[in-house]
Amino acid sequence: MTTQVTPDQLDWDNIGFRYIDTGQSYRAYYKNGKWGEGEIVTDKMITISEASPAIHYGQQCFEGMKAYRTKDGSINLFRPDQNAKRMVQSARKIHLPPFPEDSFIEAVKEIVHANEAWIPPYGSGATLYIRPYLIGIGDILGVKPADEALFGIYVTPVGAYFKGGLQPARFMISKYDRAAPKGTGAAKVGGNYAASFDAEVEAKANGFADAIFLDPATHTKIEEVGSANFFGIREDNTFVTPQSPSILPSITKYSLIYIAEHRLGMKVEEGDVYVKDLDQFKEAGAMGTAAVITPVGSITNGDEKLIFHSETEVGPVTQALYDELTGIQFGDKEAPEGWIQKV
Ligand SMILES: *Cc1c(COP(=O)(O)O)cnc(C)c1O
Repeated sequence: MTTQVTPDQLDWDNIGFRYIDTGQSYRAYYKNGKWGEGEIVTDKMITISEASPAIHYGQQCFEGMKAYRTKDGSINLFRPDQNAKRMVQSARKIHLPPFPEDSFIEAVKEIVHANEAWIPPYGSGATLYIRPYLIGIGDILGVKPADEALFGIYVTPVGAYFKGGLQPARFMISKYDRAAPKGTGAAKVGGNYAASFDAEVEAKANGFADAIFLDPATHTKIEEVGSANFFGIREDNTFVTPQSPSILPSITKYSLIYIAEHRLGMKVEEGDVYVKDLDQFKEAGAMGTAAVITPVGSITNGDEKLIFHSETEVGPVTQALYDELTGIQFGDKEAPEGWIQKV
């Protein structure tokens, strides 16, 4: 199995966000009630039964995280324990055997180390994206959870999301729901993504960056911005973010909450964010591993449009939050206890 490109053929400033086969992935299998030894494989293809519940019943969950090259050439992982823990919670929700947290962190370190040549250089803003996944496999016809599973990790280098500095994006409120009030919204499962494609495709067809999902029960409160969490900044510099059992608990969000409170001296509030009260915010943003923060330049709801700070320039609070978090991730700023693990 050969890879199409080698790391030295990549232009780190222009790799974008796409799958590049690095030639080495991690796999571990669960069978007869226990996890087997994980190993590094060189084939990106997976052979599984056509009757696997991952294929028919959406029994699947995943994670998204990054490895960062620091100024001194070392490799940082950002809060991998949080991804490990969240994947256990996702797995439990859909009745997959959880992959143990310690093994998860070890596996991530092992596969990042093996693919070290693919970690973009410090200063490019590019990173190594890490995608752990857990799927139900085996010959299952009737509707029931799998008793065999595959835990895998692939990695792929990704470019800096915003090359020339943070750029605000325009969003529209969707009429569709991504997850039911007591459904799988808080689990990082593929089914939520399949359910979001209608909204995403519609938003993009109308010239927006992505769709905003409201709370599925009343359609009056903000829940998610595409596949990222929402925050707004009030005039008095309070950082406000929605709280709901159908929101995916973003690690970026909880990190920014800490930074807002402990580094930037801001007040923080987690609670209902009503669409009718959005004009209380002078700035707004979307939070997630891929872009870290996407400034929300405007939100369109039917024929109404509300602008936050500006549709072309990032606000100062959003910029400060972004600088502090990315500074920690790339090792330029001191990290709170336990946030950085070296590979
Ligand atoms: C992964 C994800 C996020 C962001 O979570 P991070 O841990 O910050 O990357 C937000 N919303 C949804 C629906 C997600 O799947």
